[in-house]
Amino acid sequence: MVSRTFWVGGNWKMNGSVAAIKDLATTFNAGSSPSDVEVVIGAPFVYVHLLSESLRKDWAVAGENCYVESSGAYTGEISPEMLKDVGAQWVILGHSERRSILGESDDFTAQKCVKALAAGLKVALCVGELLEEREAGITQQVVERQLDAVIKVLKEEDWANVVIAYEPVWAIGTGKVATPDQAQETHAAIREYLKKAISPKVAEEIRIAYGGSVNGKNCKEAAQKPDVDGFLVGGASLKPEFLDIVNATQ
Ligand code: PGA
Repeated sequence: MVSRTFWVGGNWKMNGSVAAIKDLATTFNAGSSPSDVEVVIGAPFVYVHLLSESLRKDWAVAGENCYVESSGAYTGEISPEMLKDVGAQWVILGHSERRSILGESDDFTAQKCVKALAAGLKVALCVGELLEEREAGITQQVVERQLDAVIKVLKEEDWANVVIAYEPVWAIGTGKVATPDQAQETHAAIREYLKKAISPKVAEEIRIAYGGSVNGKNCKEAAQKPDVDGFLVGGASLKPEFLDIVNATQ
């Protein structure tokens, strides 16, 4: 069995200020971070450069979105090349807030993945079901549909630069965390699906992180599950407590 490097992502969403980011970077830079855990922080576009200058060099910085072109007449958009230029190594794509609030489709998300990877960014690809979809028993269909759009357009080798973040929408920002068993069950099903839909190698090697109300307390048990290879953390990534999540496997 391959051992997958544990991955912990922070997703600051539309939060932060110059002062707050400097403070948080100082806190994170002084904390302990195991050498066998990969840590990435996603910040609003305007703060990516500041964060990449302020943050410890063993952690990486992510954009929280990007566009599908390199440059041109796309008022208000940011390209993956621009993110790289200001110090990002990663980009978070397909977050449920972009899918549901901004109306971004599975195919548009997939195009962003292609473009970001081609530009040399790594991708945290978010998937997950709504509460009514879980209650209707179609979690797996929804996640497979979201994944299929991306599977269709990536090459097998591209998946080495992708982390999948399974984020049940009903657990995001609600304090209603999926139980470690619920996370494990969906992660295992995703891995099984990838085995058929891409290849056994990709399925075995890809990291599948859980996101949705992860905090310093509930992370430890979930981190022990065999198919939970990390976390994508919203609210708690804006607090010193994020360091406890970085150390969840210790
Ligand atoms: P949350 O957000 O940890 O605040 O629930 C997770 C996410 O949206 O990535």
